[in-house]
Amino acid sequence: MRLKNQVAIVTGAGRGIGRAIALGFAREGAAVVVNYSRSAGMAEDAVREITSFGGRAVAVQANVKELAEHERLVAAALEHFGSLNILVNNAGIEIHEPFLKATVETWELTLGVNLKGPYFLSRKAAEVMLGFGGGKIINISSVHDVAPLRNRAIYSITKGGMMMMTKSLALELGEHKIAVNSISPGAILTDMNRKSLSEPGNTERVLNRIPWKRIGDSEDIVGAAVFLASSESDYVTGATIYVDGGLLLT
Ligand code: NAP
Repeated sequence: MRLKNQVAIVTGAGRGIGRAIALGFAREGAAVVVNYSRSAGMAEDAVREITSFGGRAVAVQANVKELAEHERLVAAALEHFGSLNILVNNAGIEIHEPFLKATVETWELTLGVNLKGPYFLSRKAAEVMLGFGGGKIINISSVHDVAPLRNRAIYSITKGGMMMMTKSLALELGEHKIAVNSISPGAILTDMNRKSLSEPGNTERVLNRIPWKRIGDSEDIVGAAVFLASSESDYVTGATIYVDGGLLLT
């Protein structure tokens, strides 16, 4: 077990990529705070699945956009499992809106969930990790941290910002032995893109751009997440791992 005695918070872990990471961490021995904002039933279900194979987990509601709610997540890790070693900033939203029609509400909401929330939650978590001799912060970014995406400029801007956040925090937290890295997924089939991928011709269009010739699954992200959470990556910080079947090559 590569994460034995480790305690992790995974944001947005009721469904999609976050859920797969939470389950993957628990299979490797970590105790997991399964965060959700609205999907209470799915988060409770993820906890049930983890406990069914002997793992430890608790579901905790918190909107990552609301800084006052971050305390609940850190407190849950400490109260239930006595430590905090790993934070995965996974929760994210993507709103389709052409630049010429973009609203300030979309800007505020997307930056709040995708960037401001992770930034301040990282700080809160890092303050606690200091007391445990270090830790790992993993940001779930996107291939759109370097490649722009039509009609999702604000989303892409948050992911570009997340890459600089990863590097900046890694620079400052290295001396405290807190590693900060990103995973940038390509096209992974989740609720985020299920509708757009089901539109006629879209799956084929995306597949044509993926050298590996398949759409990714949330499970594809787990290996990189476990590696970055484990001691195997102890000299890796400020890095981004692209898990995209080669999408960025095209
Ligand atoms: P998803 O299935 O739509 O899940 C989004 C998750 O984020 C849900 O668990 C949701 O929780 C949570 N969330 C949203 N707003 C939140 C908030 N304010 N506070 C707390 N949690 C919140 O999407 P996904 O594909 O798994 O995406 C996960 C991450 O991967 C995102 O950061 C996304 O940008 C990134 N990513 C995805 C892809 C892809 O192709 N799917 C590609 C690149 C990057 P609730 O349901 O409880 O609200």
